[in-house]
Amino acid sequence: MKTRKIPMRKCVACQEMMPKKELIRVVRTPEGETQIDLKGKKSGRGAYLCGKVACFKLAKKSKALDRALKQPVGAPIYDQLEQDFIQVEEEFHAGKDGMDDDEF
Ligand SMILES: [Zn+2]
Repeated sequence: MKTRKIPMRKCVACQEMMPKKELIRVVRTPEGETQIDLKGKKSGRGAYLCGKVACFKLAKKSKALDRALKQPVGAPIYDQLEQDFIQVEEEFHAGKDGMDDDEF
């Protein structure tokens, strides 16, 4: 029996290992901007979070992103990312489970 190798990454907030596609990537670009990278293709240092706002809030509280990105992320950036995260969360899950809601 063959086992497919699924790339796993650790959520920086809850420390759970998850398949990469289940996680939302936050990236610090070479220009020094911290932003959500939904497609996982931007260059820069990345950190992964579960696709859950609860995990983002945890990361914000514990400053997990500061550690993961090796640079301080200011409070306004955390607030901005939280807004983005809430928007992106819907899109992220809609894209993933799109097939189940097609019947109507
Ligand atoms: Zn998590």
